[in-house]
This record gives sequence, C-alpha cells and structure tokens, in this order.
Amino acid sequence: MTNPTDTNRWLKAQQASAAAPLRQLRLLAPFTGALIVCQAWLLAYIIDAVAFRDARLDGLLPWMLALLPVFALRFLAGWRSARLGFLASRIIKTDIRSRLFDKLRRLGPVALTADSSGALAAGLIDAVEALDGYFSRYVPAMIMMSMVPLIILLVAFPSDWVAGLVLLLTAPLIPVFMTFIGKAAERRNQAQWRQLARMGAHFLNVIQTLPTLKMFNASHRELRNIARISDEFRRTTMSVLRLAFLTSAVLEFFAAISIALIAVFVGFRLLDNQMDFFYGFFVLLLAPEFYLPLRNFGVQNHARMEAAAAAEQLVGILERPEPEHVAEQLSKHMAAPRPEQTAHTVAGDAQPFHGDIQIRQVQFAYDTERRALDGLELEIPAGQHIAIVGPSGSGKSTLASLLLGFIGPDRGQILIGERELTPANIADWRSQISWIPQRARLFHGSVADNIRLGAPDVSLSRILDACEDAHAMEFIEQLPQGIDTLVGEGGQGLSGGQVQRIAIARALVRDTRWLLLDEPSAHLDPDSERLVTDALARLAQGRTLISIAHRLQTVRDADRIVVLRHGRIVQQGDFAQLAATPGVFRELLDEGDELL
Ligand code: ADP
Repeated sequence: MTNPTDTNRWLKAQQASAAAPLRQLRLLAPFTGALIVCQAWLLAYIIDAVAFRDARLDGLLPWMLALLPVFALRFLAGWRSARLGFLASRIIKTDIRSRLFDKLRRLGPVALTADSSGALAAGLIDAVEALDGYFSRYVPAMIMMSMVPLIILLVAFPSDWVAGLVLLLTAPLIPVFMTFIGKAAERRNQAQWRQLARMGAHFLNVIQTLPTLKMFNASHRELRNIARISDEFRRTTMSVLRLAFLTSAVLEFFAAISIALIAVFVGFRLLDNQMDFFYGFFVLLLAPEFYLPLRNFGVQNHARMEAAAAAEQLVGILERPEPEHVAEQLSKHMAAPRPEQTAHTVAGDAQPFHGDIQIRQVQFAYDTERRALDGLELEIPAGQHIAIVGPSGSGKSTLASLLLGFIGPDRGQILIGERELTPANIADWRSQISWIPQRARLFHGSVADNIRLGAPDVSLSRILDACEDAHAMEFIEQLPQGIDTLVGEGGQGLSGGQVQRIAIARALVRDTRWLLLDEPSAHLDPDSERLVTDALARLAQGRTLISIAHRLQTVRDADRIVVLRHGRIVQQGDFAQLAATPGVFRELLDEGDELL
C-alpha cells in the first residue's frame, strides 16, 4: 500500500501532461484578481460620489459604462477558467487511461488472469473518473487561492491597514482548519473507496454464481448479505458527506464572522470620522471576494481526498512488476518510427518462419511451488495436425501461452525451423500464427472490421469469400446492414456460434501457416457445433494445426495426439493406437470426460 504523501506527489506529477491549460490558468488568476479590484474600486467610487459628493448622473456615466466591460471580462474569465480546468482534467485522464492500458498490455494476458476482472474494470473506469474533481476543480481552485487573495491584500493594506490586518490574520484559519479535519476525512474516504471496490467484486461474484445459489436455495441468505454490505456502504458515504457539509458550514461561518468584523471596524471609524467612506466601502466590497477563493479551495479539498483514495489504486496497478520478455518485446515495438507503421513493419519486414516447431526441454513455473511445464520435449512437423490432451491442470493452456509468446520459457527453447523464438522476433512469429480461443471476442465495429482485425489491407472480396468458407455468410446476410452491421460491445448481439464463425473468417483472411486452436467448438449447441467444426476443418487444410482439446471426441481426426500430465508428455500416437494402449488416455476415455 502506498502512503498518502506518495499518492499526493503522484497526483501532482500527473499535471505535467496538461501543462499548457494549467499555465493559462495561472495567467488568468492575477487577471481575475485585478478585475475584482477594478470592480470594487469603480463601485466604491460611484456610490461615494452619489452619496457624499452630490455627483450628477451625467458626470458619473463614464464610470458606470466602465463597469460594464469589467463585469463582462470577469464573466469571461470565470467561464474560461472553468473550461481550462475541464480541459486539463480531460487531457490528464486520457493520458492516465492510455498509460494504464499500456501497462495492461505489458503485464500480458497471463499476468492479468490472476486479477479479478471486476477490480481491473473499476480501476480503469471509476478510479480514473474519480480523479476528475481533483484536476478540473481542486487544482484550479488552488491556483486561484494562491493569487487572488494576495492581490486583494496588496491593495487592501494601503487603503485601510486595519481591514488588511483582519484579512491577513483570518486567512490562515481556513487552511489550518482544513488540515485539522483533513486527516479524519481522508481515512473515511479511503474506507469508502475500499468498500465500493468490495461491493463491486461481491455483486459480480453473486451474479456469476446466481444459478448455483438458486440451486442450493442460498439466494435469500445472499440477499441479506448484499443488504448488509450496501448498508455499510451507505453509512460510510453518509459519514463522508456529513464531514463535507460540516466543513463547508464551518468555512462559511469563519468567512461571515471575518467580514462582519471588518464591517464593524470600518463602521466605527466612519462614525468617528477617522476614515474616508470611499476606502471603507472599497475594503468592505473586497472582503467577500478575499474569502471566496479560500472557501472554494476548502470545499474542493473533498475532491482531492476522493482523488487520493482512487490514486492509491491506480498506482498499485501502474507499479506492478512486468514480465521481462513482454516488456522487452514491447519496447522494441515502441522504438518503431510511427505507430501506424508498426503493423506494416511487422507484416512487411517479418522474415517468414519455415519448418517444424521444436519444443526443447521447456520448463515454466508460474510460482515457486510447482512447474506447470517440466522439461517438455515436442516436435510438430510442418503441415501436421496435432491435438494436445490431458487432465485439467496438466499444462495445456500454458503450452498455448508459450507458443503465442504471452510467456517465455524459464529454461529450454522453442525453435521454428532453425530460428529460436525470442522476445525480439515474437511479434514476427505472431503475425504468422492464428489463434482461435474457446470464446472469441468481437470488438465494437462492423463485421467486416472484425474480420479485418489481423489483416488490415485485405480486400472486401476476400472477406466475403472467408465468410462463405466459415459458414458465416448465412447469418451475416440476415443482419440489418449485412457485413457492415455494427457488432461487439453496444452493437448487434450475436450468438456464441456466430462469434466463433467470425473468428474463423478472421483466421482465414490472415492465411497463416500455423494455427492454434483452443477448442473453438466447445460450449456450443449441436447445430452451431457442426457448422463450426466443418468451418474449422476447411481452415485447417494445408496448415500446421495445434489444437488444445478439452473433449476427446474432437481429437479423432488428429494426425497425432499428445497426452500431457503434470507438465510432461506421457503418451503420443493416433486415436486408435492410444485407445488400444493402457495409460492416461485410456483412463480419460473410460471416465468419459466431457471437459478436461
Ligand atoms: P490446463 O490448461 O491443462 O488445465 P494449465 O496450463 O492451465 O493446465 O495449468 C498448469 C498448471 O499451472 C496448473 O497447476 C495450474 O494451477 C497452474 N497455473 C495455470 N495458470 C496459472 C496462473 N496464471 N498463475 C499461477 N498458476 C497457474
């Protein structure tokens, strides 16, 4: 856990990306101060002239007219500084979001599975949003507070030193008071934030396990749990709000007393004729303007505390150590001249890989306790179709992650022909292997965009051909805008089998020699499964196919079946051979295991 000074320092450091709007805000602050003084001076002059110097209206007209541009400029300055605050906040939030996103890429898919996705989503969306108040309101309020009262003091002292002294002495009360209650509020805020995260995770968990809860008649108990957690959250929120309201009430109170004090001092001296009405009225007009930025700063302090609590979470994600090989490989990418060229560079300059895949004595462990792969030795000749099977936890997915370069071997090597896979060439390798998981994902875009994902330059006619081959055309034709229909998040909903067929079309247009499947036909109804299996068979023709199999009936046609157990190969052979030999495969077959 990071300590409060670190998070505050981190928040300050983030301002660097919005230097331009913040600089403008700093220039605007003294300007606003000067306008306030002008306005008070003009008003005091006019009232003084009318009340005590018997001035006539036509003599005062120029002064009154002069007030108009001052009012207008003040309005514009206020509007502009609010806009600059929003602009700064938007720039900074975008910057943090893209850094977070980059960090997630660097951490890689394997490191991310350790996290609950609910907490990560909260980090990316809620926590970044919680910084908004800090940058759009708190920082501008701080800039105003550091300039405007100072300017007012500078003119108040020569006008009336008594009033100046009262202002000077009462001003520090507000920041002192804020620090006094700040600590307590900060603790409550952090508790509130943690409770929110806990509540989010709990809800997600309940939703995911709802059928189980129903089945065991436990949903009522869970309901009471949710009620309890929500109530705790309500209490913490109320205590935070109570403190916030109390703070602003006390600030108002301080400001009101101080203004009253100045009014009394000014009034007495006016009665005694010790003071000119003009100066008395002038400082009295300035007094509320003096406290306004201080009060505003105090109120916005709440935004700072909220941001500090959220920042703690963000720093936690941003400072997490990265797996070495992913970092190296990405930094190579970063060094590429222009981002839009990267895809090209990879596809265009990539030296094609040739030959067989050789996995030599590969070891990999996620933690120190146990090796997920333990001296794996495997050769996959070009053009062969092999299936990897094994009980759950035997290392099948780890092998897939290694082949895709999500993780690197701790020991041993993976060779493609003569070339070893290294962080430096893994991007080239990825451009030559296609991967279809059990549940492929669509991103927001048209069907065609989704198919083009791995091959941006492919022609429309190739896409249409691929859709035919993947049995996807049948349902694409039924969509409202055909191939241009928006799908993915917020778009047209598609069934699991339809998504898988789009994923197959995606692989078809990429036209890579190597294909890695994580049983894409699992979790489908029999009709969809038949279509997907058929499309996969077409896709696999003439390519090297490695399929991770979770169901034994899908491996019958493989040229070779490799059986894993405890991260080692225990059997190899075709279906008939293995089914006839006593061993792990036979045991799996006898168990009739649906999902391994
Ligand atoms: P399979 O795909 O055959 O079910 P895996 O490759 O997922 O097997 O897992 C192999 C071993 O590695 C198991 O003991 C599993 O608990 C462990 N493992 C898998 N993924 C992770 C992970 N992200 N962090 C820690 N251990 C993991």
